[in-house]
Amino acid sequence: MTTELVLLGTAGAPFPVAGRGGISSVLIVDGRVFVIDCGRGTPSAFANAGLGFPRLEAVFLTHLHADHIGDLPGLLLYSWGGRTGDDGPLPPIHVYGPPRPGALPAGDAAFHRETTICPGLPAPGTTDLVGHILAGYAYHLNVMPLDCHMPDAGALVRATDIPVPARSDGAQVPVVVFSDGAVRVTAVAVTHGRAVPAFAYRFDTADGSVVFSGDTTVNGDLIALAQGADILVHQVADLGYLQRHGITGADLERMAALHTDVTEVGSVAERARARELILSHYLPAEPAAITEAEWAQRAGQGFSGITTAGHDGLRRVLPRAT
Ligand SMILES: [Zn+2]
Repeated sequence: MTTELVLLGTAGAPFPVAGRGGISSVLIVDGRVFVIDCGRGTPSAFANAGLGFPRLEAVFLTHLHADHIGDLPGLLLYSWGGRTGDDGPLPPIHVYGPPRPGALPAGDAAFHRETTICPGLPAPGTTDLVGHILAGYAYHLNVMPLDCHMPDAGALVRATDIPVPARSDGAQVPVVVFSDGAVRVTAVAVTHGRAVPAFAYRFDTADGSVVFSGDTTVNGDLIALAQGADILVHQVADLGYLQRHGITGADLERMAALHTDVTEVGSVAERARARELILSHYLPAEPAAITEAEWAQRAGQGFSGITTAGHDGLRRVLPRAT
């Protein structure tokens, strides 16, 4: 039994930057591959990390902003032809993620929408998203099998909307998303502006535990979920940097309602009593903006464990539980 973390991409926000891939992480549990978020460049980063597409078992989406799901179609469709093994067709790839929100979040005076896309379903959930990907690529899925021997397209993917249980005593109830004896995945809703719901995930295996914050402000439910984790992969933003580069006033307040600042993430890891804090989903995303050493030094303030500035391709093998 081994459990290994790989960071495929560590950039925050949708706008592409040179030198850093979009947000995506992988947990490999005894050769089984679980992907957390599917940002820009995920399929190529997956291949570059030496991971086998036939071993891809499930994808967990933290929320449905494009920087977290933009390359989900490619991850599903590029490897479609390889979804067969020695014993025949492989099981479908499972995609877990947020359900439709209860209502389309309202804008405000500064950020009203001029056009509402798809007014009949303006805020689709994960099963809607996957259904729409299949519908949008129906040409490929229906026509390519006429020229190439392809696995059954109907067995390519299964999507699941993660329920968001009612709060009890003001705290979120963690949801066991997946559990099979070797790996248990637990989700809790976090706070990321109007991206409702947005999830953090905790993976527990015999080797230890890894928690992925997703995008969130400082969040007590995430801290509860991450108690005693071996590794906490946490997003990080430098709001002061953004302020110095022209994001001020109400715009800065909105950014602060979306993300955990570099001055806050160390105390989050400390309160979670995590063993190692690994930074990811950098904002600003440009590698030249802030060095990894500076990110780690500043983020580690107030944290008595190990702070590591994550980078694309970083790998960590979990210690076996004693
Ligand atoms: Zn993001």
